[in-house]
Amino acid sequence: MRRIAILTSGGDAPGMNAAIRALTRKAIHEGFEIFGIERGYLGIIEEKIFPLSNRDVGGIITQGGTMLKTARFPEFQNEEIQRKAYDILKTYDIDHLVVIGGDGSMRGATSLSKLGMSTMTIPCTIDNDMGGTQYTIGYDTALNTVVDAVGRIRDTSNSHERVAIVEVMGRKAGHIALKAGLACGAEIVLVPENPMPLHAVCRHLKETQIRGKEYSVILVAEGAYNSGEVKAFIKEHTEFDPSLTVLGYLQRGGGPSAFDAILAARMSEVCINLLMSGVANRLVGYIDGHIRALSYEEAERLEFPIDEKDYRLLSILSS
Ligand code: ADP
Repeated sequence: MRRIAILTSGGDAPGMNAAIRALTRKAIHEGFEIFGIERGYLGIIEEKIFPLSNRDVGGIITQGGTMLKTARFPEFQNEEIQRKAYDILKTYDIDHLVVIGGDGSMRGATSLSKLGMSTMTIPCTIDNDMGGTQYTIGYDTALNTVVDAVGRIRDTSNSHERVAIVEVMGRKAGHIALKAGLACGAEIVLVPENPMPLHAVCRHLKETQIRGKEYSVILVAEGAYNSGEVKAFIKEHTEFDPSLTVLGYLQRGGGPSAFDAILAARMSEVCINLLMSGVANRLVGYIDGHIRALSYEEAERLEFPIDEKDYRLLSILSS
């Protein structure tokens, strides 16, 4: 039981490289042989599997993206392809597979574990939308990137006395939008969980103007509304003509924050320790300050939704 393979899958996130480095060095330290797989689950099928040494992962800790590349490979939901992947991993004598990625990637690992593969998942996505963990690697970095960008947009909106709409990532969860809104003092945050109706947004803007505010920032999580439609609606129903900035992939790039790099190191350590003690098929999560490993089923069930208290606090503080 001495061979571990690692892959990164789904959307890339800052800290993937930090996790690859930490897993590799900790595993080698414990006497494992370690292999990298390029381009996620697709790389198993394409047999892009190669040994990793301590030197191969040198100098990557502060780099964004992933040295192992990542890919979307929806065909991996097909059980026949999963069986093929399992057989290929066994041909390479891989005993354990560590998947670094989001909830889709965890489902891929769950499928392989049902076929008998020993797997672990390290949560890594900027959206922070996975069960079983309060923090995913990459989220803190993305949040800081958004706060920095919104601060700049706020400066120019202030000068021009305009309403600024900023679209941020978050298809099904509003963590980035809400926390960034709190951190940079946005007036309105629209989240997918419970989006404020657009008529209420217009009312709020008018009241804000009456109170003497010369500009407003509205953060829109991409899953809440189409931000172009929000802009058009406000233009049609008020006298404001908002600017619109879509932050897009800017949020995924960059080296990890200290928090994310340390999270990657600690999760990787626990992951390898668990494999050594015979525990597998777990999501390695962060819960209440501790690194904890949950079964995939428990992780799916234990959701950490956005905190309604944050939403109320934001509206008090933006008055
Ligand atoms: P993320 O891991 O960031 O959530 P995706 O949802 O795109 O990103 O998933 C990444 C990859 O994981 C997919 O391209 C596919 O290869 C695999 N995957 C996703 N969902 C499943 C599933 N239900 N069963 C097996 N594999 C899956």
